[in-house]
Amino acid sequence: MKAKFDNGKCYACGKTWKLGDEISQTGKSNSKGNPAWCVDGPNCQGNMQTSGTIGYKASEDKVIWKEPGELTDDEQVLIDGQERVEALAYKITKETHPDLSENSNGFGMIVNAKTMQLLALMQIKATKESS
Ligand SMILES: [Zn+2]
Repeated sequence: MKAKFDNGKCYACGKTWKLGDEISQTGKSNSKGNPAWCVDGPNCQGNMQTSGTIGYKASEDKVIWKEPGELTDDEQVLIDGQERVEALAYKITKETHPDLSENSNGFGMIVNAKTMQLLALMQIKATKESS
């Protein structure tokens, strides 16, 4: 619709309009609970930022982590082994990339890759020993 008043302003993105400019409802409500209007309508940038943040937060809140309770001896061996392999992977990564920050994503990804490689090698070794 055409704006019925001058100096209108979108509450979400801050874009302004003049009397007679084409504006449409964004599908959201403004701070007073009335339908919000914007020159960009449903494509209002403030609208997208808001819904994006809410959507992200909602999915973040939905994660349910389960407590394992008491561990069996076998499970404890697995955890000890996992920590050992990760420590070895850390040692290899630190030696091959001494200048890389330990807190960087890159360092974490290399440790992760080395962990997988070590596990694969351990499996080959175990298979050879048992045959
Ligand atoms: Zn807007």
